[in-house]
Amino acid sequence: MQLTLKILAFLFTAGLLVSYWLFPLTPLEFGAKYNNSNFNPSNESSGMQFYSNMRFPDRRISYRIERCPLQKVNEMEQAFEILENLTPLEFYPVEQGEQIKVMCNSSNKVEGGLFIAGEGGPTNITKSGKFNVILSGKILLIRESKCARPNVALHELLHVLGFNHSTNPRNVMYPIVRCDQTIGKDVVQLLNELYAIESLPDLGFENISAVIEGRYFSANISLRNIGLAKSEKANLKIYLDNESFKEIEIPELDIGHGRKIVLKNFYVRKFKVSEIKFTLEHLKEELNKTNNEAILRSEVN
Ligand SMILES: [Zn+2]
Repeated sequence: MQLTLKILAFLFTAGLLVSYWLFPLTPLEFGAKYNNSNFNPSNESSGMQFYSNMRFPDRRISYRIERCPLQKVNEMEQAFEILENLTPLEFYPVEQGEQIKVMCNSSNKVEGGLFIAGEGGPTNITKSGKFNVILSGKILLIRESKCARPNVALHELLHVLGFNHSTNPRNVMYPIVRCDQTIGKDVVQLLNELYAIESLPDLGFENISAVIEGRYFSANISLRNIGLAKSEKANLKIYLDNESFKEIEIPELDIGHGRKIVLKNFYVRKFKVSEIKFTLEHLKEELNKTNNEAILRSEVN
């Protein structure tokens, strides 16, 4: 995960450098930036979760319980049901390719004389726009829960959903599990907010620079899917003063993945160009449509 973030940071910096170098040469200035305005989550989200806006791609999440005694299977399934009743989440069992893996085959851990109830958390997170998308998670159900409510399983499941420990001993996310603990209302509210957003892709422009030198057009374009689902094939079209100039096919892109397109020295028939328009076409439903067009206008004309 950290490596992914580093690569993203590197690409971003590299992109900035490219536009910086080209800027002094170019008579055309970048005039549009994407603005993902359809999701403005509350700030406290980053405190309750390990990272801000952590969620699975879809509200339906698959799981597989591996070699657990019946009692723990029941406990885990009860925990799923409790969250299903409070939030839009739905958990369904699969034979393979699960998003949440539940295991019981580890010895108990003793730390500072206290039982650590179990372990759970996301195992693969991808940054995608404003989301930290959880692609998979793991639960190790170690200790038997003696409570009427499946508090150990709930605690671990909430870790997998991105939630951190609570300092309130009555909260199920308190580090030491007790029977009188309940799920925080703020946790339920955040899950409801996060999963109210549909699982859709969001392909958009990230960075564009372009130059026309003499009669030759060059451009650097970076695109990224910052949504919650794989983006479908799309067409990138470039217009010079509203006349179609180039068309490039963009393949499907996974969540958080991007493409860099470099165009070098394409002959321009028109003598004078004052506006370059980049658009992404043939996109179906998306989280945000405002990042699908960018216009660069000449400074000189
Ligand atoms: Zn914990």
